[in-house]
Amino acid sequence: MDHSERIKVMTTGNNMKDYEETYRNFDWKDVEKVFSWYETGKVNAAYEAIDRHAESDRRDKIALYYSDANREEQYTFLEMKEKSNRFGNVLRKLGIKKGDRVFIFMPRTPELYFSFLGAIKIGAVVGPLFEAFMEAAVRDRLENSEAVALVTTPQLLERVPVKDLPALKHIILVGEIEGELGEGYYDFHKEMEAASPELEIEWVDREDPMLIHYTSGSTGKPKGVLHVHNAMIQHYQTGKWVLDLQEDDIYWCTADPGWVTGTSYGIFAPWLNGVTNVIRGGRFNPDDWYRTLEKYGVTVWYSAPTAFRMLMGAGEEIVKKYDLSRLRHILSVGEPLNPEVVRWGLKVYGRRIHDNWWMTETGGILIANYPCMEIKPGSMGRPFPGIQAAILDDQGNELPPYQMGHLAIRTPWPSMMRAIWKNKAKYDEYFRIPGWYISGDSAYMDEDGYFWFQGRLDDVINTSGERVGPFEVESKLVEHPAVAEAGVIGKPDPVRGEIIKAFISLRAGYEPSEELKKEIYEFVKKGLAAHAAPREIEFRDKLPKTRSGKIMRRVLKAWELGLPTGDLSTMED
Ligand code: ATP
Ligand code: MG
Repeated sequence: MDHSERIKVMTTGNNMKDYEETYRNFDWKDVEKVFSWYETGKVNAAYEAIDRHAESDRRDKIALYYSDANREEQYTFLEMKEKSNRFGNVLRKLGIKKGDRVFIFMPRTPELYFSFLGAIKIGAVVGPLFEAFMEAAVRDRLENSEAVALVTTPQLLERVPVKDLPALKHIILVGEIEGELGEGYYDFHKEMEAASPELEIEWVDREDPMLIHYTSGSTGKPKGVLHVHNAMIQHYQTGKWVLDLQEDDIYWCTADPGWVTGTSYGIFAPWLNGVTNVIRGGRFNPDDWYRTLEKYGVTVWYSAPTAFRMLMGAGEEIVKKYDLSRLRHILSVGEPLNPEVVRWGLKVYGRRIHDNWWMTETGGILIANYPCMEIKPGSMGRPFPGIQAAILDDQGNELPPYQMGHLAIRTPWPSMMRAIWKNKAKYDEYFRIPGWYISGDSAYMDEDGYFWFQGRLDDVINTSGERVGPFEVESKLVEHPAVAEAGVIGKPDPVRGEIIKAFISLRAGYEPSEELKKEIYEFVKKGLAAHAAPREIEFRDKLPKTRSGKIMRRVLKAWELGLPTGDLSTMED
């Protein structure tokens, strides 16, 4: 990786003026004062996200712009308050109370958001499930969480094995219902109409459970990560300093609420900051996405490397068809952001793409590139104020710059997970070194305190005595004009320990050939290092990915070694 490349400040309107100074002076306690519960001690995150604004000058401000192929709607903060209140009342009428798990298995539509907020308002613990899950994935999660209620559509209901789920008592259906509803089934729209728009909010403690998120399943069976209301402190402040949200912003986070980015930054961060939120239903499509940016005049755009790589694949010409002049801040999370993508973004959008790092378990952003800071392409940035990050060896000793080790965070921080649902042993593993949270990612730090992602700990390759992070090789590979995406694994080798094997999907217009393999090998050898060049290359039409768009290296490895592939519930079709 090139540590000397820098992209200087280009983003306007920074909430944070100076990173070092902010880092030095920051105290989470000051953030708490923003919220009403600072005085009362009782709290509800949905109240802080919606009602607080509905009771202020922002009451008629647009909170949500929604669109998909068939619908186009908008809701003010006041309307969001009333809709979520109604849903809270619907749940209460069914006898659902504080602490009960309410799951939502739905496409991204306004009803999903009303349900999500309404359930939190009555103190229930919400579990959002990605709409593309098939039956086994749905069963696993509803069984593990013992959900008592489910909000879903008549179509998706076919994938819910209701008979096998004794805890599941109530099913609320959103959409056209044919025939009579059996016992325990309810019509969302009818119930909403009948419910009052006034709701007595359930005031809870900051440490009370709010949300269960199952992880992406990149490395194994997804874990049920429990978050509490207190996480809002981090959502709010990272929204301010990382997303750089300001009063007039139009914000679009492309993630589905089935993944943590779609809740922490698709719901809480924008609304806690009182900002207008754009939600687009439906699947990825370059034209639709650019049209969305243009139509709403999106100013802050939060997406993922896989999307940026696909947009890069769609080329520059298409960008010129749209007016993206209002866009001022672009961010990325979920996977390593290849330097090539950052350079491309700068050229084509005229903006930097700001990488940031966090995970389901951390609940919020921990390491980031801030608008006021120089970007080093390939680095995820520097720790958020109030967060102490370090690279540790297996014993927990802090390592000096440029040494690869465990990326670890000093405990605690406001949005840290409070449990892995029904799996204490798993939870404790993250905290096995006293005082630290061990992320499971490997990284190193440079002399300026920037962190550089290397790979999942299990993914690090040991070849001829050298430790190679797959990300660095993949990033070099995608610089080659023929390569659209690449996944790199270590393949056992009697001489070298492991050799590097790359799975590559080609860009349109390129055909697999032996010459191309050689050319790509030479390209990495010259551009990176001989030991890091892939001795084996396999071309594939598509790489195995999670539904949240991450390359599943464990699946590539299993294929390669002829081993079982493990839990595939989160894999794309
Ligand atoms: P599972 O834990 O089930 O294997 P997962 O780790 O992919 O799945 P998430 O919590 O959605 O589930 O993803 C967090 C992980 O994504 C991080 O641990 C890291 O490996 C990767 N990641 C997130 N952001 C970045 C980033 N900016 N750069 C590199 N990797 C990132
Ligand atoms: Mg993980």
